[in-house]
Amino acid sequence: MNYCLYCDEGFYETVSWSFVLGIAGEMHFCEGCSSSLERIEGEICEICGRSFSLFPEQYRQENRCNDCIHWEEDVNWRGVLVKNRSLYVYNDFLKELISRLKYRGDAELVMGFRQEFRKIYQHEFKGFVVVPVPLSQERHYERGFNQTQLLAELLGVEVEHALERVLHEKKQSKKSRQERLEMKETIFELANNSKLVYGKSVVLVDDVYTTGATLRQASRVLKEGGALQVSSMTLGR
Ligand SMILES: [Zn+2]
Ligand SMILES: [Zn+2]
Repeated sequence: MNYCLYCDEGFYETVSWSFVLGIAGEMHFCEGCSSSLERIEGEICEICGRSFSLFPEQYRQENRCNDCIHWEEDVNWRGVLVKNRSLYVYNDFLKELISRLKYRGDAELVMGFRQEFRKIYQHEFKGFVVVPVPLSQERHYERGFNQTQLLAELLGVEVEHALERVLHEKKQSKKSRQERLEMKETIFELANNSKLVYGKSVVLVDDVYTTGATLRQASRVLKEGGALQVSSMTLGR
């Protein structure tokens, strides 16, 4: 008997085709919860990794969604994030699950994604330096728990904390007039060990890709620190 990491329901592993074929993995969620997780499969936007099956044709052009087309049209952002890959559609169930990761500190729950998350890393970003998107110091302190770090640690490779959040008070004074004009928000800065990303390919790890703005801001700071290219992977998209 296994117990679902999300709802605690007891369940038995069923012999599925994947099991017969020898590619089945650890079963961490009951049937109900598993079916609420919508795996991103099939056609996706080549940049942000969103599933094309979920939205109308007019929101895409060839292999890119309109959001990504806009990012790439902007000279300040073009190529800043090479690509993002995510495991699941950010539906109500995943929203609920991620908020549990964030606010209730359910460290065990994150283990349910280890196998699939590793697979993405191995297929798409093998050898890349893994950098979790940092939480603000205050938020980390309140909860004593950092879900992006736990997600990054699932990958089974060294995790480099090359980024730090800029403290709130520092934000305004740090901004130059030029930065304000370019609407460059200073939310991240390089950490002391940031030389680890110099000349390297980097993959950022975050819980969810929503607008892509946070990940691009993090990426830009890494590139200013000499990173060769930056991509990202998240649980939800
Ligand atoms: Zn369940
Ligand atoms: Zn896209």
